[in-house]
Amino acid sequence: MRSATLYGYSLPMDAGVVLRNQRLKSRDGLVAVLEQDGQVGIGEIAPLPGFSRETLAEASAAALVVLHAWAAGETGGPAERDPMNVLSGGRASPPSVAFGISCALAELAGRLPEVNTWQTVPLCPGHPDRLLPMLAALPGTRIIKLKVGIDEPTRDSLTVNQLLAAVPDLHVRLDANRSWTSAQAAVFARNLDPAAIERIDFIEEPCPIPAQSLAFAQDSGIAIAWDESLREPDFILAARPGVAAVIIKPSLTGSLDACRTLILQAQRAGLSAVISSSIESSLGLSQLSRLAGWLTPLAQPGLDTLSLMRSQLIRPWPGSPLPLITLDQLAPIATFP
Ligand SMILES: [Mg+2]
Repeated sequence: MRSATLYGYSLPMDAGVVLRNQRLKSRDGLVAVLEQDGQVGIGEIAPLPGFSRETLAEASAAALVVLHAWAAGETGGPAERDPMNVLSGGRASPPSVAFGISCALAELAGRLPEVNTWQTVPLCPGHPDRLLPMLAALPGTRIIKLKVGIDEPTRDSLTVNQLLAAVPDLHVRLDANRSWTSAQAAVFARNLDPAAIERIDFIEEPCPIPAQSLAFAQDSGIAIAWDESLREPDFILAARPGVAAVIIKPSLTGSLDACRTLILQAQRAGLSAVISSSIESSLGLSQLSRLAGWLTPLAQPGLDTLSLMRSQLIRPWPGSPLPLITLDQLAPIATFP
């Protein structure tokens, strides 16, 4: 006997969370709960406004199709096929739906390992005055992530120089979100201490066009990582000089099988695959953390986004002071059968 329920959630965000020039007041999404033979599997479906190609309404409609098919006994086909393709009637589900429901299916089948190290690279404020006390409160941290490209490039260089000088064994991941022209990226590189370069593990997408970012990597000796480019239709993932890593955001990518394929493709090309959040709730973050421990154990994931919210959802993240909203507090949208 199978039963599937889709719930909606809306979690208040910390004031001042701005995504692509749009203020995000609440994080809205869905939770799929699958039950079979006394077992339960849960998954979060959380399209991110401004980043996901599907809206929440589209995700909800697509999720209902899949849950209906699953509850009616559709098995998902042979184990080597992606069950999401079968359950959605051969039509591709939107990435957030494919990811969330495949997580619920994997939990139900015991395929998503329970072991969780809860590791994440801390996302740090760009100002050294705030950053250094924060690092002091996180003993043992050897790698942090910093956003760059918001201030002048020379200021970013100064921040990185000061930070790396102050904490001798620290490494940084930088993320420019494509905000520099080639000239600005060159200014950033020119103003870095030469010793800092090898302690920058990578910088995500310095420039708007991949060819510009590749040229920057070659000219500066600073490794780059792909993030936005990965989701462009004509992008080919391959080993290129100066590319160190790919940032994989499962809610923007698709099913667990699709994520796994992409991770293997990256690893075969000699790139580090870094699992990263799309601002999921604590439920989704805990599953991303398990996924990272399972498929990318050597690359610490980037999941430090829970503090942008004002509450957690269903499963708590260890050490978070935020209150927890439980499943019975959510409104069901539909139950099958
Ligand atoms: Mg990025």
